[in-house]
Amino acid sequence: MDCLFCKIINKEIPAEIIYEDDQVIAFNDINPQAPMHALVIPRKHIPTTNEIPDEDTALVGHMVQVAAKIAKQNGYDESGYRTVFNCNTHGGQTVYHIHLHVLAGKPLGWPPYFDESLKQPVA
Ligand code: 5GP
Ligand code: ZN
Repeated sequence: MDCLFCKIINKEIPAEIIYEDDQVIAFNDINPQAPMHALVIPRKHIPTTNEIPDEDTALVGHMVQVAAKIAKQNGYDESGYRTVFNCNTHGGQTVYHIHLHVLAGKPLGWPPYFDESLKQPVA
């Protein structure tokens, strides 16, 4: 399967792995958008959050717990952090193997803007 994140799981492509267990791995994003920007991914290939089967709800919960663990290990549990799943085009998804972004280390803007040129929320 030609999936970038499966290749990282299989160690065919290098990554700065910061956590791994039998269900998930986490590594630093190659293009960080905050002082800490990690991605938590399941070892199982699931293309988008639209395709999470009922039997994998605990897996996705585990991804969120791992994100919290990583944030805490880096000292960001109190100051706070953001976890994000992007889905499909309007969600900004570019890699079609689900991944939970974990961002921390600076105040993160809210709401997100679809139209960067307007810098205004677009309905
Ligand atoms: P998405 O846009 O799909 O939500 O997020 C994909 C993320 O994967 C992006 O933040 C991007 O910087 C990151 N990424 C893409 N290719 C690589 C890679 O080869 N290695 C690592 N570590 N991150 C990558
Ligand atoms: Zn994959």
